Amino acid sequence: MGTRPLLNRRLSGLGTTIFAEMSALAISTGSINLGQGFPDTDGPEDVREAAVRALRKGNGNQYPPGPGIPELRQAVAEHQQRFYGLTYDPDTEVLVTAGATEAIAAALLALLEPGDEVIAFEPFYDSYAACIAMAGATRVPLTLRAPSFRPNLDELRALITPRTRLLLINTPHNPTGTVLTADELATIAELAVEHDLLVITDEVYEHLVFGTATHHPISALPGMRERTVSISSAGKTFSFTGWKVGWVTASPALVSAVRTAKQYLTYVSAGPFQYAVAEALRLPESYFATFRANLVRKRDLLVEGLSSAGFRVFNPEGTYFITTDITPLGEKDGLEFCRSLPARCGVVAIPNVVFYDNTEAGQSLVRFTFCKKDEVLSEAVTRLQQL
Ligand SMILES: *Cc1c(COP(=O)(O)O)cnc(C)c1O
Repeated sequence: MGTRPLLNRRLSGLGTTIFAEMSALAISTGSINLGQGFPDTDGPEDVREAAVRALRKGNGNQYPPGPGIPELRQAVAEHQQRFYGLTYDPDTEVLVTAGATEAIAAALLALLEPGDEVIAFEPFYDSYAACIAMAGATRVPLTLRAPSFRPNLDELRALITPRTRLLLINTPHNPTGTVLTADELATIAELAVEHDLLVITDEVYEHLVFGTATHHPISALPGMRERTVSISSAGKTFSFTGWKVGWVTASPALVSAVRTAKQYLTYVSAGPFQYAVAEALRLPESYFATFRANLVRKRDLLVEGLSSAGFRVFNPEGTYFITTDITPLGEKDGLEFCRSLPARCGVVAIPNVVFYDNTEAGQSLVRFTFCKKDEVLSEAVTRLQQL
């Protein structure tokens, strides 16, 4: 086989994800897994039944249409109108994808040339770095720093160069729980217009927003409609992360570009689930309100438990993650801490440092998820008191 490495240069260093390592540790030690963000309770029964009905009726058992089934594209357009007053044509401005993950990959592969620069908030969602690398582009981090984890927009302005093609934003932000304010989004939008940049916005946590924080789609701002690819998914909103139904809303030109890449990635996916998600998107307000109320209770339970165990806790405004600092526990290294935590007290967490290029900013930060049953969270809290 010679001496040339098998894994190409673009992907070297991307190795296996931290989630694989930590989930394996959870299993081998019998620990409570507050690492990977997937709910331990499935979404609404009616939505599951809709998927079963679709399977039985033969809806979606064969290749669905490339852009997604018309019912789902219509439901996505209605959702954007209902929650944000945004009008999208279901035929030309909506594209169904294999989760938000494929939408992110297809958008980056379609819109970037090798050598382009992409500015993204770090800590990054892990697929961003990989997809930017696969596109041959360069990631430029805008570091969100404790304790506020708010973007420094003067720093953003300074990071823009003639090679910058695209801003990749994520609000509500995983893993810090930051929800961008209307003012922050307005400044980001002005910079995008001024420098003629494209924007990809990952909004998979759009409905997981707490207290006084509000989710605002950047595509609604002046000059943004024609330069923004908005991405969301059913996984987080409806607690069906295994279904992998996501979508893009954007101008016809952008949707057409993203579809060009998407059709050679999966072509299509999740036929019967697309019918079920079309129904889920039309659930009444009470579903979304109850979902949020349950998450707030879980967040508060874990925030309180982590604080009393001695962590410094950064209360999230959105998502289902809590970022903590382990310094008050006399610890410095989040990676080492997370590798030893299962043996020490039977809980698994994720070291935020793996989501940073500027590792100094994430060294002592550790992420816990709270999308688990109350009794599981309570047991985890009890175990963590041993620290
Ligand atoms: C979970 C997650 C995704 C992936 O969504 P899927 O629909 O499961 O592909 C994308 N972005 C962020 C920030 C996430 O947390």
